Amino acid sequence: MRVIAIDGPAGSGKSTVARGVAAALGLAELDTGAMYRAVTLAALRGRVPLDDGPALGEVARTIRLDIGDRIVLDGDDVSEEIRGAEVSGVVSVVAAHAEVRTEMVRRQRDWVAGHGGGVVEGRDIGTVVFPDAALKVFLTASEEERARRRKVEGSDEGAAALARRDRLDSTRPTSPLKPADDAVVIDSTGRTAAAVIADVVARA
Ligand code: C5P
Repeated sequence: MRVIAIDGPAGSGKSTVARGVAAALGLAELDTGAMYRAVTLAALRGRVPLDDGPALGEVARTIRLDIGDRIVLDGDDVSEEIRGAEVSGVVSVVAAHAEVRTEMVRRQRDWVAGHGGGVVEGRDIGTVVFPDAALKVFLTASEEERARRRKVEGSDEGAAALARRDRLDSTRPTSPLKPADDAVVIDSTGRTAAAVIADVVARA
């Protein structure tokens, strides 16, 4: 089973690169951030306190989640809603809970096994979810460039909110955002998506 892990902070270009690499190599692509966002939306809808790890773990375990071209939560297409400010503002708080992560990792491994491998993007893919991945990429970009890209994409998440999310993701005790020891670190600042995709494909 061939797995390519792509980790990095928000706005580093993970989704674009993962999509391009998956297309070039004929692999499926999994956006694990969308999964944490969907759990967060389910918790907000169910008014589950965001500091209650066991209750959030229960939400993670009991939702029906389809991750494909569209993100479908309990039968409802939430592809746009999970990218909104409400979810972006608290997703890192929800994702910090070990109970939530345990279930997400289980679902991610299942998904990849079911697809016979894949290009998987997130924060802990190379370090925790697939430590034996064939290739681990840690994508970075300057803070200014990451904030600018998010704006171009139409996100209403400002630079300060983005920086806060990265700080929470990097400092949490469970599976913090960091490059795996054997990851290739690629700085995408000032480079086109096509160039970065070609770079990753050449290493795969
Ligand atoms: O990738 P995206 O920015 O959509 O991820 C949203 C949030 O989900 C991240 O800021 C992080 O808190 C969480 N996440 C995570 N582990 C992953 C993927 C995302 O904790 N593998």
